Amino acid sequence: MPAPRATPAPDDRPLGLRFITAVVNEPWAELDAAAAQTRWAALSAAHGDAALGARAAHAERLAEATAELRAIYAEHDPARVAASLNAALRAHGAPTELTQLPDGRWATRPAIPIESSAADFVRSLAAASLAQWFAERGRGAWGLCAAPGCERAFIDEGRRAPQRFCSPSCATRTRVAAHRAERRSPGGAHTH
Ligand SMILES: [Zn+2]
Repeated sequence: MPAPRATPAPDDRPLGLRFITAVVNEPWAELDAAAAQTRWAALSAAHGDAALGARAAHAERLAEATAELRAIYAEHDPARVAASLNAALRAHGAPTELTQLPDGRWATRPAIPIESSAADFVRSLAAASLAQWFAERGRGAWGLCAAPGCERAFIDEGRRAPQRFCSPSCATRTRVAAHRAERRSPGGAHTH
């Protein structure tokens, strides 16, 4: 499982996607009940919604929900992405409501009942925000990091070539390793 990393500033766009991606990158299956609730509260606070942290966070159910989401992050064929997200919207979609952000701006979000658990909240928010991002970008602009041993989920916010790595450090690490392997291999003798 990927290691947790510091979460981004809460005022960054796109809000829901960053939260969902941070949740997907948590090693829920390795946490006990108390640790899962603590991590959930910390992630909620880091993304600007401390009240969200009060929802019941079950490690096992969060592990199930995030495994489903990782399958979507791994998919790039548009027809398959759309089919997966439509299924997720049918199963977990919530009505849309307006909410005012701390800085005064208005945003839409799924109206998820206060009694739903953290895992159900994640499924509903993920279905809405991934579907919106897919429609906006016209492709599954996300992925699982291609660096060996990383596998972190990421949102591809770039405008050019599809992103393959979660971070510049993973891209550099992989490029350096590939270059070294090429120099070591008998057929790949480079002269620089
Ligand atoms: Zn990575």
